[in-house]
Amino acid sequence: MSAPPHSSRAAPDLAGVLRRTTANAVRRERLTHLERLAARPARHAPWPAWTDPRLREALRRQGVTEPWVHQVTAADAAWSGEHVVLATGTASGKSVGYWLPALTSVLAAAEEGRGRPGVLYLAPTKALAQDQLSKLQGLGLGPLRATTFDGDSGTEERDWAREHANYVLTNPDMLHHSLLPGHARWAKFLAGLRYVVIDECHHYRGVFGSHVAQIVRRLRRLCAHYGSEPTFVLASATVASPADSAERLVGAPVRPVTDDGSPRGEILLALWEPPLTSLHGEHGAPVRRTATAETADLLADLVVEGVRTLAFVRSRRGAETVALTAKDHLAAVDPELARRVAAYRGGYLPEDRREIEHKLRNGSLLGLSATNALELGIDIAGLDAVLLAGFPGTRAALWQQVGRAGREQQGALGVLVARDDPLDTYLVHHPESLLGKPVEATVFDPANPYVLGPHLCAAAAELPLTPDDFALFGPGTAEAVEALTDGRLLRRRPRGWFWTRRDRASDLADIRSTGGSPVRVVEHETGRLLGTVDAAAAHSSVHPGAVHLHQGDSYLVLELDLEESVALVRRAQPDYMTVAREVTDIRIVGTDRSQQWGAATLSFGDVEVGNQVVAFLRRRLGSGEVLGEEPLDLPERRLTTKACWWTLSEEQVRDCGVAPAALPGAAHAAEHASIGLLPLFATCDRWDIGGVSTALHEDTGRLTVFVYDGHPGGAGFAERGYADAHTWLTTTRDAIEACECADGCPSCVQSPKCGNGNSPLDKHGAIAVLDTLLGEVTT
Ligand SMILES: [Zn+2]
Ligand SMILES: [Zn+2]
Repeated sequence: MSAPPHSSRAAPDLAGVLRRTTANAVRRERLTHLERLAARPARHAPWPAWTDPRLREALRRQGVTEPWVHQVTAADAAWSGEHVVLATGTASGKSVGYWLPALTSVLAAAEEGRGRPGVLYLAPTKALAQDQLSKLQGLGLGPLRATTFDGDSGTEERDWAREHANYVLTNPDMLHHSLLPGHARWAKFLAGLRYVVIDECHHYRGVFGSHVAQIVRRLRRLCAHYGSEPTFVLASATVASPADSAERLVGAPVRPVTDDGSPRGEILLALWEPPLTSLHGEHGAPVRRTATAETADLLADLVVEGVRTLAFVRSRRGAETVALTAKDHLAAVDPELARRVAAYRGGYLPEDRREIEHKLRNGSLLGLSATNALELGIDIAGLDAVLLAGFPGTRAALWQQVGRAGREQQGALGVLVARDDPLDTYLVHHPESLLGKPVEATVFDPANPYVLGPHLCAAAAELPLTPDDFALFGPGTAEAVEALTDGRLLRRRPRGWFWTRRDRASDLADIRSTGGSPVRVVEHETGRLLGTVDAAAAHSSVHPGAVHLHQGDSYLVLELDLEESVALVRRAQPDYMTVAREVTDIRIVGTDRSQQWGAATLSFGDVEVGNQVVAFLRRRLGSGEVLGEEPLDLPERRLTTKACWWTLSEEQVRDCGVAPAALPGAAHAAEHASIGLLPLFATCDRWDIGGVSTALHEDTGRLTVFVYDGHPGGAGFAERGYADAHTWLTTTRDAIEACECADGCPSCVQSPKCGNGNSPLDKHGAIAVLDTLLGEVTT
């Protein structure tokens, strides 16, 4: 088969393709919205006068003849010593924004032969730091001595980095475990540190974000000790209030730069909702056709049209299924076309991946399905269309994925295919939430006491803590230091608080874990470690008898050893799935903030959640029919965390039009949908949060719905919900109403993680209750 080189290829008429794809009425109904985003021209600004000419020349060689306006604004601010966050779209050249000041300072100092002004670059992953290193090396700047410092670096590389490097690329984990605890050996580097670049900073969210915020504070403290005060430059995808989250991360005011001057070709964004089928699921709810099945159909259609298409699918098995199904469809039309579709997944050797990328570039491959996880590692140009089987979790990720198509300002087509959950349902019926100003924010809570304590120990091990440090680490520090001293983790001496134990203080904080040691999932026959499950989710997902899915394969859990944190499993193909039954109670410990919405109240504060997995159900795959229930003997778990909750008064409940018997179901349905929609406002997924609803709660004496952070001490999600509660709950109400099912289904009020088997649920009651709650808001 010979393929045409892409340079000779005319751009396909994407609007025409879409028109043909939706020519019949059944198909047309699934297209809920089509948005045409006009092409946008580039806006340039002159090079800052202070730019080193060698850097300007190097960038010119790479095709940057004149920088874009946002690059210059950010660079000028950083050059003048202002902390800055650059939050612009995919492929908007954010690195040029921080290279200008960072590399100019490195080059100038090398010239003058003075000291070693350093740049520290932080990426959330090793792969990203490696990628950034090769880009830096591609600039060919002689005096630049850049190196990565990560778990793979050998002793020699580490010594070289400490002694000679002026640009060190690393990740928060290395900073936490190695660089900061060993700061004495990095003294020269830290003394000269001019810039700290925090790339892809929207990754630092939830509990992980709290940890990284504390690591940054430890870094700033050590820099001050060695006499430097670096300027922070952060880069982020476009999210709501980037300055707020950047400021929380750095612990100092940060200037936002959001006016994107990069050009863009025309984008067609199609929103697509699979139809309800005649099948029935849990409690007789209608079953929607899956997003993967719809995506496979669309992939086949686009390949027939000669449109180079990449489909993003959530799971590895899903990606394989989409490719196989599309091939089947195509084989019926033309076997030759079927050979031009492939799946692209993790686990491939780099040369296999390069081969696939090459084939897509030259057009011998037309369709590819990949998992979201490959987003960072993928290097594909020349695409026309991107299909998304399900919302990828954030608007930033959606635009990043759609941005894969439309090379060199040619047009691009993006299709978001909804999955059956309330968030996706809402989005395909409310395009303005994807197109308007972003509302989702990267949230975390730097003051989480469970995170603060271990980092204060690590800081004390680095340099004794003194009261002068308290302001840097935030409110609650004095209290935390006292508690750590009482607990004999820290010792008070005349010069401050010391870490005097022999073990490593930094080991107290496991920055990627979310509380408790994760449970290892081990295959019984082979002893092979399949993966881990967060401690918080272990009871409900790997209890004895549970069906556990791992990368598309199913396993049966034989034993859960809580002391050793191990679940033993064996491969199995049962024709059922399992659902845990839980008993949850919640107690209000303290209210931080509260407001009246007429007779209703909205609050945010501390709660204690008690949760016990008491049994599990076996449900037949497909139909959801209950095959049996088995009791479990697992201990109760208690979680102290943050929650947002709302209540209705007795009169409101009486007048809302919901019969007393239907109230528990109404509150429960409202709770589920609101958990499903919170990720639109705070980048989290529905598994990071939990909820409790009751027609009468003993602490409030009223109908109450709680949504809480699933991590000890809170993660900022419930706080964000409180801050934007009116929009969040209005959105929740609209999402429920948008679903065309009669009495509730997974697209609106049913939840896959419900510990009560999705019962009782009252869809119409939920709308009535939310209308009452929102009806008296005077804001
Ligand atoms: Zn529904
Ligand atoms: Zn539930």
